[in-house]
Amino acid sequence: MPPRIAPHHIPGTPEHQLSSALDREVLYTPKQPWPDEAYVQWGNGIIPANPFFEAFVADTFLRGDADTIDAAEEKAFAKYQRFVGCEHVWSRTSRKRGTYTNGAGWCVKCDSFKSREFPPVVTLGSKRKPISKSELFLIEDVDPELDAIMDAKYPHEIARRRQDKRELTIRRRIFGISGNYF
Ligand SMILES: [Zn+2]
Repeated sequence: MPPRIAPHHIPGTPEHQLSSALDREVLYTPKQPWPDEAYVQWGNGIIPANPFFEAFVADTFLRGDADTIDAAEEKAFAKYQRFVGCEHVWSRTSRKRGTYTNGAGWCVKCDSFKSREFPPVVTLGSKRKPISKSELFLIEDVDPELDAIMDAKYPHEIARRRQDKRELTIRRRIFGISGNYF
């Protein structure tokens, strides 16, 4: 079974129509033995040209960058093999990146990333405040076309983005807008 391929690479989907219209279509067939549940996408980058291959699998994100998409896929797959070959020990803290409170975990042995390893650390009351001007842009000046591009490109983030907008809309209704940008 092949991995699931991002819809913007599949002719006939609205995402593919958009990506062709934007001249972003890159014909490529993944070659590595990704597992069925892997979700993969690739591209050439724009400026600077930067062929990449990305896989979302097992709650982690693996990306390879190289001179060709082939080589980028090989790099991403090598990372995947390291990921499955490790008996992970998860921590909220990464030596390189500091401590994350959003639920992400980093393996202390192989430094792999996992998006939902821990419950997020929440500060009570932290959302009981007006939204900033920069947050206002996120809910008011939304360009539907850019929104569609983001949805096609990062499908695993659609739910989180919708949730963020809902929260901002509620905060604006209850607490208003502050004069600050951040
Ligand atoms: Zn590990």
